[in-house]
Amino acid sequence: QAPRIAFIGLGHMGGPMAANLLRAGYALTVFDLVSSAVEAAVTLGAKAADSAAAAVIDAQVVISMLPASAHVESLYLEETALLERIAPGSLVIDCSTISPDSARRVARAARARDIAMIDAPVSGGTAGAAAGTLTFIVGGSTEHLERARPLLEKMGKNIFHAGDSGAGQVAKICNNMLLAIHMIGTAEALSLGAAHGLDPKVLSEIMAKSSGRNWSLEVYNPWPGVMENVPAGRNYDGGFGVDLMLKDLGLAMEASLETRASTPMGSVARNLYALHSRQGAGRLDFSSILRLIEGRAL
Ligand code: NAD
Repeated sequence: QAPRIAFIGLGHMGGPMAANLLRAGYALTVFDLVSSAVEAAVTLGAKAADSAAAAVIDAQVVISMLPASAHVESLYLEETALLERIAPGSLVIDCSTISPDSARRVARAARARDIAMIDAPVSGGTAGAAAGTLTFIVGGSTEHLERARPLLEKMGKNIFHAGDSGAGQVAKICNNMLLAIHMIGTAEALSLGAAHGLDPKVLSEIMAKSSGRNWSLEVYNPWPGVMENVPAGRNYDGGFGVDLMLKDLGLAMEASLETRASTPMGSVARNLYALHSRQGAGRLDFSSILRLIEGRAL
């Protein structure tokens, strides 16, 4: 029999992920601090709960998609102490991007209560969440991953097992550090070419067939007008926010401090995104870093 699911956090990513589970026929009880997000899920067939604690009553699986470590620790361990409300034997799937340490802390507390837990951060953005084509990067035991797999398959296309608890977060953080670096590099190259009178669209086509090719250039081009249906084409509205990228780069820097790994480009990237955010770009899509590189007003 299909498990009853509590889904907590219905933002840019959680909303469409929950919608895909509803479409697949699962019974969902949902909660978000923003009532319009809850209402949107209810119109798709979800049951609304008026607190996270109420949402997990009778749930065999709890899925969360929250902004950052503090929200996840507050939900499961601190203010809401949800682990004390979730029935032993249940499965928790946290899809938020948070610090590996936080993920391990929550997983340890879950284990102590006989609750299974995996960290399952995602890649693929809001478009991937809507299309059900996300990549899940899982940390935790093989047994717990296999329990989660049928649900993850309804929301994503690729499922990777990175290692034990926290390993999903480490892999996700490495990926996003690289993403920030090639987005900034792409913006910089396009800006240099344009300063020399090249058409950024032509330059993009050239680099996409040359050794500079990368995802930011080919799939998510930061120069307005080069590509349709990307945030650059709508004043950097929607997509993956500058402040979320800044958070992930901060996680990368913490992770590099813990191990004495050397991450010089990640450090520059974090500082550029911090500057961009301080200038008021926090809610714009992260490809708007082009405006900082170009020295243009927001
Ligand atoms: P978001 O801010 O749109 O959504 C987060 C939601 O959590 C909000 O609706 C908020 O009201 C809710 N929330 C916060 N605290 C809560 C609580 N205690 N109880 C219930 N609801 C609570 O963020 P998002 O873009 O959906 O991102 C979520 C996570 O996914 C982040 O960790 C982000 O780094 C990661 N991520 C985002 C993208 C992207 O493209 N947006 C891509 C991959 C990963």
